[in-house]
Amino acid sequence: MKKNLFDFTRSELENYFESIGEKKFKATQIYEWLYQKRVWDISEFSNIKKEIRTKLEEDFTLDLITIEKKESDVGTYKYLFRLADDNFIEAVVMVHDYGPSICVSSEVGCNMGCKFCESGRQKKIRNLEAYEIVEQILVIERDLNIRLKSVVIMGIGEPLDNYDNIIKFITIINDSKGIQIGARHITLSTCGLVPKMALLAELPIQINLAISLHAPTDELRNKLMPVNKVYNIATLKEAINHYLQLTGRRVTIEYVMLNNVNDSVEEAIKLANLFKKMNIYVNLIPYNETNHLEFKRSSKTKIMAFYDTLKKNGINCTIRKEFGANINAACGQLRGSMKNK
Ligand code: SAH
Repeated sequence: MKKNLFDFTRSELENYFESIGEKKFKATQIYEWLYQKRVWDISEFSNIKKEIRTKLEEDFTLDLITIEKKESDVGTYKYLFRLADDNFIEAVVMVHDYGPSICVSSEVGCNMGCKFCESGRQKKIRNLEAYEIVEQILVIERDLNIRLKSVVIMGIGEPLDNYDNIIKFITIINDSKGIQIGARHITLSTCGLVPKMALLAELPIQINLAISLHAPTDELRNKLMPVNKVYNIATLKEAINHYLQLTGRRVTIEYVMLNNVNDSVEEAIKLANLFKKMNIYVNLIPYNETNHLEFKRSSKTKIMAFYDTLKKNGINCTIRKEFGANINAACGQLRGSMKNK
């Protein structure tokens, strides 16, 4: 069966060329066509001999995911993509002052079941292949005629539950002959799959890691995030410490502000005590309300009080700027409006 050419790291392509008795550097030429010149038709690869092009056409496709729907708001573009098997996924572009950033999905649906999250209402149908994640970037860059500055893996899905494909995706977009997204401009967000965090700590490409914590005690986190029953806060904290030791990189703790659920000053103090003296910072996320779930966003006053308490207790902290509230940009909302298969 033909494979999608966007699914290959450069070293995998080098192996391919060696296996057909060709020189390895052809892999770099292919990368230049795909990711620098953005020519996605093998017959136009003019520096590759005709007979090799024919062989490539026999072995590979360059099929792209297609844009099913697109919505925009100030500084935000939200895409719904149709995959070859008629499943749907989402990606969002946010235009920051430092350049445009994309939030990509890693799976069709998600099995983590976080109670406040729209994506979790739709169980995982399958993992995304690396090429389907790469193509979220390529298709949007072509559609908007821009180059993205940074990539966050925070869309639908739990990236560490699709580990191999995510690492392949990161390797492809980080390649110096490819899309060239620097490791410091790639952020992976996880609900805390501890064994996979240990693997990530060993990765030679040092990306940013964000942890969706959302609660300072096991009692509350168990209620909000089923994953906590498998990897509780103490285990997660150990994994974060291990990551900090190995990489020396600061870790982000994400904390979504849910009205009267996790937003009291006492909870801020507990959160501060949990991470005292660790190289982390807390990103407070105003909750994006959805039609289906009972959770409400905390008031500005409460968010500010929570923020002040963290600061007073020595924790670095930011409040996430909001994007796309008018276009159902909350995780899973756009896809939720379509039916899969
Ligand atoms: N599974 C990964 C990445 C996808 S979710 C993770 O859990 O980190 C990305 C982030 O958005 C997580 O922190 C998630 O808890 C949060 N989130 C989910 N629904 C949200 C909503 N309605 N409003 C604000 N943040 C939300």
